[in-house]
Amino acid sequence: MAKNFLKVTCKDCGSEATIYSRATSVISCGVCGATLSIPSGGKANLIGCTVVEALE
Ligand SMILES: [Zn+2]
Repeated sequence: MAKNFLKVTCKDCGSEATIYSRATSVISCGVCGATLSIPSGGKANLIGCTVVEALE
């Protein structure tokens, strides 16, 4: 089964967030407002965060 959600940490403040791996909109950090992910061809392009683990 494909992993649809990713647990990530913000590179700027280190807070954790769970994002959809195919998010179609820009996702920002809820704590510091840094851009975590931008959409890219149907798959989220992680630019401001590090993946901790893939969730079901
Ligand atoms: Zn942050």
